Amino acid sequence: MSLKTLKPLLEKIIEHCSHLERRDNDPVGLVHAYDEDADREVAALFSSCLAYGRVELLRPAIRRALTPLGARPAEFLRTATIPDLENLWPDFTYRMTRGPDLLDLACALRSTLQNEGNLQALYLQGKDSAEPVAQRDEHLRLASRFVRRLRSRRSRSKMVRGFRYLLPDPADGSACKRLHLFFRWVVRGPDIIDLGIWDKVNPSAIIMPLDTHTSRLCRYLGLLQRKSVDGKAARQVTQQLASFESADPLRYDFALCHLGISGRCIHRYCAERCPDCPIQPACILIADGSSTGV
Ligand code: SF4
Repeated sequence: MSLKTLKPLLEKIIEHCSHLERRDNDPVGLVHAYDEDADREVAALFSSCLAYGRVELLRPAIRRALTPLGARPAEFLRTATIPDLENLWPDFTYRMTRGPDLLDLACALRSTLQNEGNLQALYLQGKDSAEPVAQRDEHLRLASRFVRRLRSRRSRSKMVRGFRYLLPDPADGSACKRLHLFFRWVVRGPDIIDLGIWDKVNPSAIIMPLDTHTSRLCRYLGLLQRKSVDGKAARQVTQQLASFESADPLRYDFALCHLGISGRCIHRYCAERCPDCPIQPACILIADGSSTGV
């Protein structure tokens, strides 16, 4: 099965899925609750940083993180003093994230809003030309610098593991799913799911937010050969998806995520599930007659 045959299958999933329903069960749904782009940008960073773990637990955790920032989080952070921020999350706990990690993040955002005005301006700082970022190599360089600058603006003098986990650096080689999710939200669109509030980065430059579930599906579809779920794997999948749609490879992230979240696939042939699976004609588990996951 060629990659060209896979494209119409993925398009069909996009066409038939309820995007609104999907958004309402996704962390990005909480970001759409804000009207202003400045507030959406701040809420997007908080939400993407916390977008790990089970979906039914992570949305309440994001709500608990965002609620103390009020209805206008960008304005609140821009004008807040450090003592204003210190008691916002006294008892916050979500898996490996604690209140002081959120305080580090809030201080990094406060400094950025006061100095550069918004997160896109921080990301673009030091870029040579005024042309939008269109290449993935350049985007990854800028993304790594963006993370390092945000990390340096934390409240605590020591870099603590919990805060580092919120903001992973692509230069370390990991897949950085949540960081790339943030970029997808702010760069792609606007549409029902993505926000499209950054105008200086082209969708062609951003990287697939790859996790264990989507990477498995990508292997079944011949989009990924690597066994590790790391930065190289995320780039390999993005490159493959770019062969469908070079201007917007992450258009297909939606379809792959949807299949992963739906829980349909149990990673081996299943007589009840596979015949109705929308990507069954392209699935190598079926073509190989394999009974075990890849
Ligand atoms: S055809 Fe079956 S094994 Fe392949 S992706 Fe679909 S549900 Fe999973």
